[in-house]
Amino acid sequence: MPVLRVALDLPLHRLFEYRVEQASAADVGRRVRVPFGRGEKIGIVVGVVEQGEWPLEQLKAATAILDDLPPLPADFFALCEFASNYYQAPFGEVLMQALPVGLKRLAAPQRRAGRAVKAVAPLPAPALTVEQAVAIDAVAINGGFSAHLLFGVTGSGKTEVYLRLIERTLALGDQVLLLVPEINLTPQLEARVRSRFPEHNVVALHSELAEAARERNWRAAFSGAAAIVLGTRLAVFTPLPRLGLILIDEEHDPSFKQQDGMRYSARDLAVVRARQQAVPILLGSATPSLETWANAQGSRYTLLTLRERANPQARLPAVRLVDTRRMALREGVSEALVSAIRQRLERGEQSLVFLNRRGYAPVLACPACGWVSRCHRCAANLVLHLADRRLRCHHCGLEERIPRACPTCGNQDIHPFGRGTQRVEEWLQGEFPEARILRVDRDSVKSRKQWEAMLDRIHGGEADILVGTQMLAKGHDFPKLTLVGVLGADSALYAADWRAPERLFAQLMQVAGRAGRAELEGEVLIQTQYPEHPLFAALVAQDYPGFAASQLKEREQAGFPPYAFQAVLRAEAPAMADAMAFLAQAVALPPVAEHEQVMLYDPVPMRMARLANLERAQLLVEAGSRPALQAFLPRWRAAIEQLKQPARLRWHLEVDPLEL
Ligand code: ADP
Ligand code: ZN
Ligand code: ZN
Repeated sequence: MPVLRVALDLPLHRLFEYRVEQASAADVGRRVRVPFGRGEKIGIVVGVVEQGEWPLEQLKAATAILDDLPPLPADFFALCEFASNYYQAPFGEVLMQALPVGLKRLAAPQRRAGRAVKAVAPLPAPALTVEQAVAIDAVAINGGFSAHLLFGVTGSGKTEVYLRLIERTLALGDQVLLLVPEINLTPQLEARVRSRFPEHNVVALHSELAEAARERNWRAAFSGAAAIVLGTRLAVFTPLPRLGLILIDEEHDPSFKQQDGMRYSARDLAVVRARQQAVPILLGSATPSLETWANAQGSRYTLLTLRERANPQARLPAVRLVDTRRMALREGVSEALVSAIRQRLERGEQSLVFLNRRGYAPVLACPACGWVSRCHRCAANLVLHLADRRLRCHHCGLEERIPRACPTCGNQDIHPFGRGTQRVEEWLQGEFPEARILRVDRDSVKSRKQWEAMLDRIHGGEADILVGTQMLAKGHDFPKLTLVGVLGADSALYAADWRAPERLFAQLMQVAGRAGRAELEGEVLIQTQYPEHPLFAALVAQDYPGFAASQLKEREQAGFPPYAFQAVLRAEAPAMADAMAFLAQAVALPPVAEHEQVMLYDPVPMRMARLANLERAQLLVEAGSRPALQAFLPRWRAAIEQLKQPARLRWHLEVDPLEL
């Protein structure tokens, strides 16, 4: 009697065996219903063998092998296996997280008719610039694996390069996987792809799709019916029978990193996938991640550069610093910015005030006794939201009413301290009573629908001034926007996180790219108390390569990634002592002594030590080479799994962490 080896969605690094009346190797990759505990589970058949590891009479019988889908292909398994090994995540978990929810249900799948794709008139393609043509020809479609970085400022015509490469791939009958950051899955890009390829089936895969739509789109990709799959990080796993090209837009974007469950980088997995399936991959960005930039300086990726804006009329915006050291500010806004906004109002153009902090003020404080609004569940302040009169924790979601008086001393004169988007919006409205102001942040835009409506309003000219967070920074073309003012940039300059400058530079370049995309010249004003900081000098010169070179040099001297390879072990528990003690035990495990090339730092409480009533600590692991780290991790992980742990302690490993 055949035995099925089955992967189940469980936090265990092992497979499960079931006997079955009839099965063959052709069932590998099919879903299977199996009894588990008191109920049933859906798993995936990973192998069919005659003799399992366990005696046959001890095995339970599988309920049914499901054949509503063709078996998942070998390349899907190969990618999941890589991810499982590399990120130390159980194979079953990796496989199952890659499937749409509907396919993991015990209830029989419901078939729904697919929606017909709306036909749109194709947009004519512009004549390519020389740089675009060179970039396109450098990517050999159908020529096996190759990796490329397409480096070009906003508006330099990267998307046009993607479209031409898609065209070449489709001409061969192959499929394209286009990955975009969460927030950048904009109607604009999707519409542009659809309108360029009206005869082809374009499907989207992202978390805001309704479950049924997501399953339908996934099936279309898997069956080969969809020619283009446009998706966020999870889409990297989508099985595609004729994959011919992978594109990653805004490759530096942190949202390609999954931050819970299996903590993987979709960008890195996409490169692995391209290699496994022998197809080209192109990563695009105006501000590549330093890892990618280093790869493109070496021989791993080819560097393709677009230096100029594609539309010659649209010049790069002029970036200027406003030195706020000896300047009277009103609500944090300089006179220079105020008069620049006034000018735009008079000319009927749009301005954008960028401040990466939502809410009214980051904290409410009592000047008499020093009380501040703290979250009692986290090591964080409660943010004042005046729009709906709440104090809110941005980490755990706790909400409280705004107190009338100081809870400790009764003082009625408590003040908001610092400022967020709501406060700036309010002040600007007072300053420019006739202006129509739109605030764009996660409080005013909570869904993709609201986002589309907001974009329509902006495009329809319903706003004179936009006040927004990084939501506004990405990939949107606002033809009437000619001024960008940046507030509060300094806080990231000297942050403890050594990746903060990289993120700040990327953000500011991106937000600067919003100004003057069409025929109107753009201007960017950055308020700062550190105008001599090299990051700003690079920004004014719009010199990413210079900035990247100096950052990489610093990292090399300090021994930080990409010159070192890291993993982090985190533990969380109601008591910090338990979390720290657990990590201390992990440091003392035998594999640590046996892998001399791997260095472990002392366990420390995390920078934000308390989150939702749990105390968190972490332990950094570092090695000079990836193989050294990868040789150590599975042995160490297996040893950690054997440790006795306090009941409410939870731990996880993260490889290549972005935030420490
Ligand atoms: P990016 O993706 O780098 O921001 P896009 O591809 O969106 O740049 O191009 C910016 C603008 O320039 C778009 O309006 C696009 O239609 C236009 N464009 C792109 N390539 C060309 C070209 N070769 N000639 C004229 N206009 C172009
Ligand atoms: Zn007080
Ligand atoms: Zn909280």
